[in-house]
Amino acid sequence: MVVVGLTGGIGSGKSMVGELFARLGAVVVDADQLARESIDRGTDGFDQVVSFFGDSVLSNGAIDRRVLAERVFADATARRKLESIIHPIVRSQFLQAVDALHGEEVLVYEIPLLVESRAEGLFDFIISVECEISIRYERLRARGMSSNEIDSRIASQATAEERAAIADLVITNNGTQEELLREVERIWESILPALQRAKG
Ligand code: ATP
Repeated sequence: MVVVGLTGGIGSGKSMVGELFARLGAVVVDADQLARESIDRGTDGFDQVVSFFGDSVLSNGAIDRRVLAERVFADATARRKLESIIHPIVRSQFLQAVDALHGEEVLVYEIPLLVESRAEGLFDFIISVECEISIRYERLRARGMSSNEIDSRIASQATAEERAAIADLVITNNGTQEELLREVERIWESILPALQRAKG
């Protein structure tokens, strides 16, 4: 089995790369989705968040992520607390996904904040998806984000250079979806099988 970490800046095309890997047969897990599920109603994470932040973060019995985000945005202590609730749950879900792999299965773990969370030791191979800033703006604006939102998200993330420094391979996604598919196929057909063989 091979465990791949898939990262990249906002709007670089990580999710699309993850989708292409899934179509080729990889098990794809998204760290952001695990983080959202970690505080779903009925979970331990939910109880911990409500006991720390209080009922004011609830809306119709569920945690209102927007309210929670506002609470932690300007309060570093609250943010650290929230992270200390969510991160261990996400980490344990990830490890369960690794444990559930059989034979030569490939797990692709989409993790936007791979550099920021110092997670590089978890993977056999790290891919960073990068894309020219003007194209990212264009794609993200088409998704409804404002320039201000894009700027502040980019400013809060690691830089392309920092991601490249820990990546085994950088995919440049400045072209068409067809070109992206060909690059993902090349990785799937030659690089990952070679890694499987090397791991023996
Ligand atoms: P986020 O960090 O916000 O999750 P992301 O890195 O996962 O972003 P995607 O959601 O995969 O990025 O891509 C951003 C947008 O750009 C999406 O709407 C996607 O469909 C589009 N996109 C990605 N790659 C290409 C491409 N090569 N050609 C055209 N559109 C693309």
